[in-house]
Amino acid sequence: RAKELGRDNFQFYTEELHARINERLAMETGLRRALEHDEFELHYQPRVDLSSGKVTAVEALIRWNHPELGQIEPLRFVPLAEELGLIHRIGEWVLHESCRQQAAWQKAGVADLPVSINISGIQFVQKDFIKLLSRVLRETPLDPSRLELEITESLSMQDPENSIRVLRELKALGVRVAIDDFGTGYSNLHFMKQFPVDIIKLDRSFVQDIVRNPEDLAISNAVISMAHSLHLKVTAEGVESVAQLALLADHGCDEMQGYYFSPPLPMEQCTALLRESRTLPMEKLGRRQVNR
Ligand code: C2E
Ligand code: MG
Ligand code: MG
Ligand code: MG
Repeated sequence: RAKELGRDNFQFYTEELHARINERLAMETGLRRALEHDEFELHYQPRVDLSSGKVTAVEALIRWNHPELGQIEPLRFVPLAEELGLIHRIGEWVLHESCRQQAAWQKAGVADLPVSINISGIQFVQKDFIKLLSRVLRETPLDPSRLELEITESLSMQDPENSIRVLRELKALGVRVAIDDFGTGYSNLHFMKQFPVDIIKLDRSFVQDIVRNPEDLAISNAVISMAHSLHLKVTAEGVESVAQLALLADHGCDEMQGYYFSPPLPMEQCTALLRESRTLPMEKLGRRQVNR
């Protein structure tokens, strides 16, 4: 009986394993062709200023419309693309596409806001990254201040000396820089104070339970104070409720991004949101805003 069970388990295990290997293979061959077949798409999530309620920027988030598997989220294919060395071309596509979109919104009079894009660690340490950036900015053409790059905290701290060097070149180019997922890496404050960046994005994991968990509130507070003393703005990620929003606003957070205001949207829907100049429903925040 035990032997049989063992065999069944083994069989189940190998089937499962085969299924996984096949899916990975399908993803791999698919990824190699996705660019030529135009299967990638950018969704855009607005970021909102907490004192004016206005949209201040939009973040471009990649989606893969797989012909058989449907829409695939970045966390399921970006790591594979990095492993396969395909992230260079995908990253270049994201850069082109988001710059083109920003210019299109500006030209159509929809909005003239910075678009922020997520940069993979592999792109960030690439020798010609700055050259590529300046070429795309020139070709679009796009005012560099309308482009913001998001670098995760853990990436920026991997080789902080090199990060400082690259960040200085980015600053010289005139693009903006945000430190993404802040609080999940291991920031070295000695380096942090030397990073020429504009914005810190407080990771969603602290925002999620901020209403019930005093530790999360304490950490969020510490991040906000530190950022402000370095003259940086703070954007809270993943704000889903008015209670989270009110608490963050009370503690001096500058901006927020999250489902409470809007999920990431396909281009047409984001265009509509920007056109109607939607703002945060400030009345729900009550008197809190008045005192800031
Ligand atoms: P991220 O840059 O931290 O992006 C924020 C993620 O949180 C997005 O997931 C967004 O959809 C999600 N989010 C926003 N608001 C809320 C909320 O209120 N609640 C919840 N539960 N989630 C919210 P997404 O689009 O799946 O992207 C995941 C990660 O994939 C991104 O994290 C980023 O690190 C990476 N990524 C996305 N696009 C690109 C890209 O073009 N290139 C590279 N290299 N990485 C990308
Ligand atoms: Mg991001
Ligand atoms: Mg983030
Ligand atoms: Mg994140």
